[in-house]
Amino acid sequence: MDIGSMKLDWVAQRMVVMNALVEKYKESQPLKGVKVAISVHLEAKTGYLALSIAKLGADVSVSGSNPLSTQDEIVEELKRRGLRVNAQRTHDINVYEKNLNATLDFEPNVVVDDGADLTVALHEKRTDLLENVWGVCEETTTGVKRIKALEKFKKLRVPAIAVNDAKTKHLFDNRYGTGQSVWDSIIRNTNMNVSEKTVVVSGYGWCGKGVAMRAKGLGARVIVTEVDAIKSLEAIMDGFSVMPMKDAARIGDIFVTVTGNTSVIREEHFRVMKDGAILSNAGHFNVEVSVADLERISSSKREARPNVTEYNVDGKKLYLLAEGRLVNLAAADGHPVEIMDLSFSVQLLSVLKIVRDHGNMEAKMYAVPSEIDDEIATTKLKLLGINIDSLTEEQKKYLQSW
Ligand code: NAD
Ligand code: SAH
Repeated sequence: MDIGSMKLDWVAQRMVVMNALVEKYKESQPLKGVKVAISVHLEAKTGYLALSIAKLGADVSVSGSNPLSTQDEIVEELKRRGLRVNAQRTHDINVYEKNLNATLDFEPNVVVDDGADLTVALHEKRTDLLENVWGVCEETTTGVKRIKALEKFKKLRVPAIAVNDAKTKHLFDNRYGTGQSVWDSIIRNTNMNVSEKTVVVSGYGWCGKGVAMRAKGLGARVIVTEVDAIKSLEAIMDGFSVMPMKDAARIGDIFVTVTGNTSVIREEHFRVMKDGAILSNAGHFNVEVSVADLERISSSKREARPNVTEYNVDGKKLYLLAEGRLVNLAAADGHPVEIMDLSFSVQLLSVLKIVRDHGNMEAKMYAVPSEIDDEIATTKLKLLGINIDSLTEEQKKYLQSW
């Protein structure tokens, strides 16, 4: 059996909430005749989401959401299983964009986006296709921000659901998913020990909390850098040191950025870093660690290991992982399967909502309804065999008595 097929079979056994939802809805074929375009990191879990949406009757077209995170063996296997796929792992941004365009040529009714590349392309370059689009479901923090910016400037032309903001998404995916998968990638790509190191985590949002928590669990000394006073206080109360990047840069051994911002680590920081520092990013795009600055100020560079580039800066060696792109996806398998099971279950139910409510939704950003969160959390607990208490009549009355 080939690798793509093995990987898809592995996740199929473990995406138990998704399987339960497909069982529940497949008989009525709620997506029959609906064209769904997906642009999400194309590895096995995303492949399984695409196959699950197809099982509910949809016609599906799939592409990646980052030039480096597509796994070519999954592309081949999805094609063998009958899906339209326009994706390949590439270092060429033009090839990546050509694949996105080919996916839009399919004239989708529903878009499952991760980072809003398809949504932005629809609004800027392919406006002719917008009239066929009933809605988009956005997977990640930065994508939600990009779509909210379209809404703010009155440019959003289709309904959008902020999948990222669902509780069963960001509380688990951004925090525990990023927490584990970032360390999985750094460890497998460097083969280095994390305990004994000073780890610097930039950004103490949902992702940063997970990355810092797991670094502590691995035995590292952890420093957090932030621009938000409340998040900084949270980090201190959680037991981490907080300081500006200009100070952290001098003492860190391993750096992880997860801010969704740009140039968080830049020339002034590279110049004062220790010899051998490891640099990685887990936020959107490849700009948080300024690759442009590294390229400009280094006297030479070479590939030190697969996915590790060594830059020579002022006689010191600095090591950049995965070209500064999301380290957990561009150089590993992304979040664990149980986590993506939750996130993609939110996607599946959000797609169903768009199809069901099509015609009654406005061109604005919608929150995921709390019933979707409840359905996913309840299903997951049931599958884990965990029972919880329910309110007694006396307790219900008591809580309503104020
Ligand atoms: P968030 O909004 O919860 O947190 C981002 C934090 O970064 C905020 O607390 C903000 O104050 C801080 N920040 C902004 N600029 C900063 C700077 N210059 N220095 C230090 N801190 C700064 O967002 P999140 O959900 O944690 O997501 C962060 C990024 O990671 C987004 O781009 C998101 O799309 C991406 N993401 C990646 C993965 C992954 O698998 N790698 C998973 C989920 C989200
Ligand atoms: N296009 C952007 C996307 C940001 S990625 C970029 O490449 O910069 C962040 C999203 O990736 C997260 O919200 C998370 O849900 C998703 N993700 C993490 N692990 C994944 C996996 N194994 N498979 C598919 N998506 C994953």
